[in-house]
Order: sequence, then structure tokens, then C-alpha cells
Amino acid sequence: MRLPDIVLHEPETIAEACDLLNEYCPRARVLAGGTDILVDLKQGRITGVERLVSLKRISGLDSIDETGDAIRIGALVTLNQASRDRNIVKYFPALIDALESMAAYPVRNIATVAGNIAGAVPSSDLAPFFIVAGGEAVLSSGDGERSVRIEDYFLGPRQTVCGECEIMTHLVLPKPGPATGMSYHKFMLREANALAVAGVGAMLALKVGPADTILESRVALTAVAPKPVIARDAAARLEGKSPSPEAFEEAGRIARCEAKPITDIRGTDEYRANLVEVLTVRALNDALERARSGGA
Ligand SMILES: Cc1cc2nc3c(=O)[nH]c(=O)nc-3n(C[C@H](O)[C@H](O)[C@H](O)COP(=O)(O)OP(=O)(O)OC[C@H]3O[C@@H](n4cnc5c(N)ncnc54)[C@H](O)[C@@H]3O)c2cc1C
Repeated sequence: MRLPDIVLHEPETIAEACDLLNEYCPRARVLAGGTDILVDLKQGRITGVERLVSLKRISGLDSIDETGDAIRIGALVTLNQASRDRNIVKYFPALIDALESMAAYPVRNIATVAGNIAGAVPSSDLAPFFIVAGGEAVLSSGDGERSVRIEDYFLGPRQTVCGECEIMTHLVLPKPGPATGMSYHKFMLREANALAVAGVGAMLALKVGPADTILESRVALTAVAPKPVIARDAAARLEGKSPSPEAFEEAGRIARCEAKPITDIRGTDEYRANLVEVLTVRALNDALERARSGGA
């Protein structure tokens, strides 16, 4: 396996990068950390790519910033950088659950958060979190930008609504409201460097009182369909109810039916369906604990 001959471009502005993509598309791709795309090119999973447009020299993409009621994560922010960031630690412990379950430390030093969403592999560990957190991607075409909700971002395996000449410059996460908790649970076959056999993200927003009521709920699944699954029926069944083991078990059974798993080297469809049921209950329990202990 050899990397094919490729021309590397290192533009210094988003506009320049978009011009290059425009000029050479569909034979040019964006390069962030390269932990996905370079492997895909070497293994021939992607063909016909002659140029890579690196984001590395573009300033302003490597920081995590607090902007009023949201946190913005730049396209060059790595997994390890995000998991150490004080705003992520404060507002999004569920993102840290997901980040620390991924790859191994050296890969996490290179791989970017945005690259995981942009790459849209069916086992993305960050997709469920960004969906339940209500995250958005900011896509720039050089002369304008648009925001897309992550729940609307994925079309299929490695297919997204991001145009061939667009660049995801930031991911935006709204700060969670009061008494809101999130979590991510993943099952993998090894402790490190293992993709999810199944993964579940959950969010619960509570009305706190003598008996808690679930005001809003979201559940999202990974590695159990060609693209992340939003388990809308499971989440809807919880809203207006008091959180209880019975309610969470029912949501788990519904989420299981919303998954569309396949059998592959990591597990059978039946095994994955079982995992969805179990992981949904665990993710909801953790989200509840976080919601009750002050949020996120
Ligand atoms: C050993 C190993 C273990 C791994 N383990 C996991 C794991 O446990 N869980 C998991 O989910 N993933 C895992 N991965 C996959 C990968 O590391 C992650 O998906 C990573 O976050 C991708 O980020 P990157 O910066 O390396 O993306 P790149 O490889 O640079 O890009 C990925 C894709 O997204 C596009 N892209 C990247 N950034 C942008 C942008 N800003 N705008 C538009 N398009 C863009 C690229 O063109 C490419 O198609 C693993 C990979 C390896 C090699």
C-alpha cells in the first residue's frame, strides 16, 4: 500500500483554499489531521484524488472560543486539545466521554474534531454527541458561509451536505440550559484504537421539582446504520415522563428498533441491536445523573 502521487497545497486563507477546491474539484480534497483521508488514499478506498488542500496554515482555525451562549470549535482543533479545553470540561463532559474513547493518544494529537464530523464514517464517535447537543457546522464557500445542524449534515457513508468546494470552518455548540445532562456510551472490542461496535449519545433536560419531569430528550446512535441514527421515537417516548428505570428500558427497546445494523467483522446485526438497547439505558442514566447534579 503506497500513497498515490498527490500535490499538496497549503493556502493561508479560507478564500484561497476554496478557490483551490473550486479549481480542482472533484480531484481535490480538504486535508486536516489526515488520520482518515491518508489511510483511505493509501488503501484505495478513495480514488481519483490528485490534490490535497491543507488547512494547517490558515490562522484562526485552531482555537476553541466562547461566544456568548455558544462554544465554537475551529476546524484544526485536535481531539486531545478539545478534551483539555476548560470550556469543554465545564459545559460538555459528554464530549470528553466520546473523545477519550477514540483511537489512542498519539492519533488524538493529530486527528481533528471537525475532521471526524466532516469525514462522515458510519462509526463516527462524535456524531451522536454533536446531534444530541444541538451542534451546528459552519460551512464556508470562500465568499459566504452557512450553518447546518449536525442532525441534518449526514447523507450516507462518507456523504454529507458539505459541497465539494466548501470548508467546515467551525463547529458550534450551544451552551446547555439548566438541569440538562448529556452522555456518550460506546462499546468496542479493545481498550484503544478500536472503532465502535455501537455507540449511543443521550441528552435529557429536566424540569426540576419534587418529582423531576423530562422536558426534552434526544438519543442518537452510531455504527448501527449507514449514517448516524436519530432515535426520535425513543426520545419522544420519554418527554413529559418522570425519569425511571422502566421509562429508560422502554426507550432502549424503541431505540433498538430504530437502529438498522449490519453484520460485519466487529459484530452481528443482532449483537449490535442488543448493544443499542443496553447502551441507551446506560447513556440515559448518565445523562440523568449529570442533569441532576447541575447540568451537562
Ligand atoms: C488508528 C486510528 C484509530 C481511529 N479510531 C477512531 C475512533 O475510535 N473513533 C472514530 O470516530 N474515528 C476514529 N478514527 C478515524 C479518525 O481518526 C477520526 O475520524 C478523525 O477525527 C478524523 O480527523 P482528521 O483531522 O484526521 O481528518 P482528515 O483525515 O484530515 O479528513 C477526514 C475527511 O474529512 C474531510 N475534512 C476534514 N476536515 C474538513 C473540513 N474542515 N472541512 C471539510 N472537509 C473536511 C477530508 O477531506 C476527509 O474527507 C481512527 C483513525 C485511526 C487512524
